Amino acid sequence: MVQEYATKPMGSLVGTYLTAPIQVGVLGFGGLGQTACRVLTPKQEMRWVAAADQKGYVYNPNGLDPEACMVAYQSQGSLGYLEPNGTLSNDSIRELIEWANPVDGYFLALPNLPNTFMASIAQQFIASGWRGVLVDAIKRTSAVEQLLALSNQLQLAGITYMTGCGATPGLLTAAAALAAQSYSEVHSVKITFGVGIANWEAYRATIREDIAHLPGYSVETARAMTDAEITALLDQTNGLLTLENMEHADDVMLELAGICGRDRVTVGGVVDTRNPKKPLSTNVQVTGRTFEGKLSTHTFTLGDETSMAANVCGPAFGYLKAAVGLHRRGMYGVFTAAEVMPQFVR
Ligand code: NAD
Repeated sequence: MVQEYATKPMGSLVGTYLTAPIQVGVLGFGGLGQTACRVLTPKQEMRWVAAADQKGYVYNPNGLDPEACMVAYQSQGSLGYLEPNGTLSNDSIRELIEWANPVDGYFLALPNLPNTFMASIAQQFIASGWRGVLVDAIKRTSAVEQLLALSNQLQLAGITYMTGCGATPGLLTAAAALAAQSYSEVHSVKITFGVGIANWEAYRATIREDIAHLPGYSVETARAMTDAEITALLDQTNGLLTLENMEHADDVMLELAGICGRDRVTVGGVVDTRNPKKPLSTNVQVTGRTFEGKLSTHTFTLGDETSMAANVCGPAFGYLKAAVGLHRRGMYGVFTAAEVMPQFVR
């Protein structure tokens, strides 16, 4: 059930205000999930009411306390231990969806391991009969393609699903779509990211999935690695992961949005797993030809002080708000970060 909008006079696109906060759930309570609830705390338009991890879930329609949730998760290993609203479960997402029916939208801060996991979660939502909005921050082209293939089923189920709505894909893909408007023809989109985190254990899935892009690794080999093996690999590289020509869904998203062929989109970057300072400034360069025949490059660079978590969770909720607007207009199915403008959450 999605909340009603009240529209400001003049019907301006920036003038839609929600009459009641959007009830938001966060699935996955690791690095991104925990940041997500902190990002939501000051928001008037969204209320964080539900969360799940691998071993349990918590739901309170009046809102959850981020500090209490983080203490329970970090000290006991699951939100299910939280008193009085937590429940331990080995099937936490299914149980939460059934129980917390009034949730309007979920941010899926889950690992996509195996590479079919997020699509299987979407299918679980379809089977449950729940209607609302879902937002993911998945990264691989092949993972986004699985969601795109579910678009008709999601549409019939009354679910508005926003895919690829983190930083890359997400914020930077949307920036590329915007930058492309100056050109008659887009020649290349080059995304280069720098991520700095204090320790890899804070973002286990992110780092595992990044390792899967290294030469000689796959999603399956990275998934099968023990924590000790990952630590040993990072010891060899001084904590750095250098990634080139990644299979990143920015390509399919920009192709679908009609901006350029996927072969013109490249993504790479450096992740420092031992230092919160970014090893390089995250940026997207969009090169094209204007109608006058001039070749040019637009560059959009993120501030070095902004963390990966800020650049993923902020856009994810901006897209969640936009998706609520689409849902209310009866627009269901799959949309990407390159075709919908995120809305700022007050
Ligand atoms: P994490 O490993 O820190 O946390 C994962 C959480 O999911 C944990 O709380 C775990 O208990 C929970 N979980 C795992 N399996 C579950 C299940 N079956 N049911 C319920 N909960 C389950 O993960 P993270 O580092 O925060 O990354 C989350 C995802 O975000 C990854 O897929 C990563 O690639 C993606 N990501 C995207 C971007 C982007 O810009 N698009 C950037 C960073 C991370």
